Amino acid sequence: MMRKLVAVLAALGAAACTTIPTPRTAQPVEVQILAFNDFHGNLEPPPPVDVVDDQGVKRTITSGGAAHLAAALTQLRAGHPDTVTVSAGDTIGASPLISANYLDEPTIDAMNLLGLEFNAVGNHEFDKGVAELKRMQAGGCAKYTRRTPCGLEPFAGAHFRYLAANVVQADGTTVFPATGIKDFGSIKIGFIGMTLKGTKQLVTPSGVQGVTFTDEAETANALVPKLKAEGADTIVLLIHQGGKLPQFTTGDGCEGLYGDILPILPKLDPAITTVISGHSHWAYVCRGTQQVAGRLLTSAGKYGYFVTDLRLRFDPSTHRLIGQDATNVVVGSGERGDDSAIKSLVGKYEAAVAPVANQVIGRLTATAKKSEDESEGPAADLVADSMLGATNGAAQIALVNATGIRVDLPGGDVRYKDAFTMMPFGNNLVVMSLTGAQLKAVLEQQYGVPPRPKKELPAALAPSAGFTYAVDVNRPAGGRVSDMRLNGKPIDPAIRYRVVVNNYMASGGDGLTGFTAGTDVTDTGIIDLDALVAWIAKGQTPPTPNRIRFTP
Ligand SMILES: [Zn+2]
Repeated sequence: MMRKLVAVLAALGAAACTTIPTPRTAQPVEVQILAFNDFHGNLEPPPPVDVVDDQGVKRTITSGGAAHLAAALTQLRAGHPDTVTVSAGDTIGASPLISANYLDEPTIDAMNLLGLEFNAVGNHEFDKGVAELKRMQAGGCAKYTRRTPCGLEPFAGAHFRYLAANVVQADGTTVFPATGIKDFGSIKIGFIGMTLKGTKQLVTPSGVQGVTFTDEAETANALVPKLKAEGADTIVLLIHQGGKLPQFTTGDGCEGLYGDILPILPKLDPAITTVISGHSHWAYVCRGTQQVAGRLLTSAGKYGYFVTDLRLRFDPSTHRLIGQDATNVVVGSGERGDDSAIKSLVGKYEAAVAPVANQVIGRLTATAKKSEDESEGPAADLVADSMLGATNGAAQIALVNATGIRVDLPGGDVRYKDAFTMMPFGNNLVVMSLTGAQLKAVLEQQYGVPPRPKKELPAALAPSAGFTYAVDVNRPAGGRVSDMRLNGKPIDPAIRYRVVVNNYMASGGDGLTGFTAGTDVTDTGIIDLDALVAWIAKGQTPPTPNRIRFTP
């Protein structure tokens, strides 16, 4: 009844505006949310990226870098007094050397400068463990990792607030607050921030010992009454979980969206009207379709290539959300200017890290490409070969998770920073014995999903030279891997083989628990990146990815 009356009054006001002044309150109140995700410490502009634009044209765009991102945010905020900037996670972690060498402190500083207010934790926020992440929030120079904190200057911590609704500690409290409220005067927006419930499988177990990651929808729904009681007029979910599209686009639509975010959406309380997602590194805007259960669902790709500009419109008298929309904006490479404070911050860290970063470590005859579908590719094969090489004959087979290979390694003179950017995790190499049968079991695990087209296969383990096998994804789970051979000889199920993997895989990372069955486990103490550096020093040609053979 009340809503009807307001609508009638608004209509009257509009029709008769020449004679009767429109009541101020009839104008909808617009709140702007600027969102990004998966920034991954990209202080400097990341490599150009191929996108399909809204006209369906494939082009390469150069975009990003913290100073450009900040300038874009400033430009987008102009004329919008009611605005808030948020991140859906993985702001730090898996970062290029300029940020990682300083434990991502400069990225936190940059986020403070560009006005980030809420950051949902992602899986990579936990790469260095819970204690180190708490230091990111609180500041200080306590040492929780191999690297020395405060390498260049004291660290004050994040001015923005981490949100971690579904990361529960032993005492039942969450690692960071579950929710945050932004009060725009008349309108209040509640934010719930969380990571995917599968985070534990994506980080090294020791770092997240004692915390549990709870179900996304259940956790979010349980927080709705609290936010309503605090006066939230609508609720926005910042969630580090996402979907993918058939092709990488500039993110204007979401046709063909699939992935792990979709089953979560219909379970959400209707009070959660807007979902800002991440993790998948794809850009999309889904506007209220059935697929997204009537909600606005967005994601801004990765590395600061894009910013999502969301607009939520509220009825000023009822405070009800009456409309919302979003666009993905390409940040660009200077067209919107540079943020001078961030530019000088980045310049300071560039100069400090340069002697290490620009060191030429060797030569590659061509670019080692990363497989687009996280499967076997020249880059992953090159890494597997380097791991095998580093064991000096102590292992016969190396296997590396393709998810750990982040970008291509450029051909020609290879600089340390490029190798680091490709493989930023700093995992130790672990040698273990697996019988031929155990080896098959773990290879089967990576294909242990319903049959799907090759391009949608889960991330693969790339093998070192000499180890080959065949896969038929149309066969039943557990029987998809066949014809395993080492240097042409069939693998014997009963014989033990010495296998080298990184410590993340050795502890069952990516859900490949088969590696935890390994015996005679030795941590070599060799870091995977050092193995790669030593391998490239000899000069290398990127391998042809023909070690996994798909049939039929
Ligand atoms: Zn992620």
